[in-house]
Amino acid sequence: AAELFYDNDADLSLIQRRKVAVLGYGSQGHAHALSLRDSGVDVRVGLPEGSKSKVKAEEQGLRVVTPAEAAAEADVIMILVPDPIQAKVYEESVKDHLKDGDALFFGHGFNIRFGFIKPPAGVDVCMVAPKGPGHLVRRQYEEGRGVPCIAAVEQDATGGAFALALSYAKAIGGTRAGVIKTTFTEETETDLFGEQAVLCGGASALVKAGFETLVEAGYQPEIAYFECLHELKLIVDLMYEGGLEKMRWSVSETAEWGDYVTGPRIVTEQTKAEMKKVLGEIQDGTFAKNWMKEYQDGLPKYNEYKKADGDHLLETTGKKLRKLMSWVDDKE
Ligand code: NDP
Ligand code: MG
Ligand code: MG
Repeated sequence: AAELFYDNDADLSLIQRRKVAVLGYGSQGHAHALSLRDSGVDVRVGLPEGSKSKVKAEEQGLRVVTPAEAAAEADVIMILVPDPIQAKVYEESVKDHLKDGDALFFGHGFNIRFGFIKPPAGVDVCMVAPKGPGHLVRRQYEEGRGVPCIAAVEQDATGGAFALALSYAKAIGGTRAGVIKTTFTEETETDLFGEQAVLCGGASALVKAGFETLVEAGYQPEIAYFECLHELKLIVDLMYEGGLEKMRWSVSETAEWGDYVTGPRIVTEQTKAEMKKVLGEIQDGTFAKNWMKEYQDGLPKYNEYKKADGDHLLETTGKKLRKLMSWVDDKE
């Protein structure tokens, strides 16, 4: 079973005695920087000249310097810029400012797990990753609660790396909810697998195939949209609250029976065999290598896929229908 840590297991003074740099001020960066500050931690935000986030961070009362200045001042450096550019930011702005005893922190293990960033031996390498979007992390903190986090140590140079990670997690509210101990390898591989096979890739392919099946059989796209996409939220909300059991308790007996007999005909043994292949390509680094190459080539295939799905009848139908739903927020 997983090891869990709460407020009483963490010593806030460890992180309060350090100088923290948060690089990036997006979804996670803003939540970490503001809550660290409110927990009495000496924090500066590192952003390049001309960054769109800079005005926001300064308006919210934070001191903003360049990433290199932030890394030079600090002895704990949290990297919260997008994963594909972390290695570049590390090479250009962080590497030369690392001293023995410093700590390098991440919110996701991608660059360490696949070796795009190779920190020197004298530095602690830690992860504190909230299991929720940054805005929820910040809101929960302000309300005296927290979002559960996972924490990991890849390199314990000082002997105190995990205690420091727990202290950081406490400062952003994580130990109020509970912190689960993991490794960079487990976090990275399960995160990539979940988003590819189930959450993003699996779910969108399922919705699209169901929608196409109904439309190709002559049903109206508007009706197919409601059945295959819109109502998914209801189902997922029920699963989120009470697992498969609550979802099945809430839907009709007919829907529940259809769930049992048809589900395994859609996600088959063959699908699961493919999932295992996908996991293998994550574990052996194939996915990471291909994705970094695509990013460095300027995202040619990414943009092609994005355009093709943007023009799909599912999406154009949805755009029209969502205008009829005053309660749905369809802003960019
Ligand atoms: P965002 O895309 O929301 O934010 C990126 C931030 O980085 C922006 O403030 C951007 O500034 C800034 N930035 C861009 N380039 C640089 C640079 N060269 N130097 C310094 N800052 C730069 O990122 P996320 O918060 O989504 O992700 C950060 C990390 O957290 C990732 O490792 C991610 O995997 C992880 N994570 C994210 C979660 C989430 O909910 N989003 C959940 C858990 C982990 P500008 O405004 O100028 O573009
Ligand atoms: Mg992810
Ligand atoms: Mg129905």
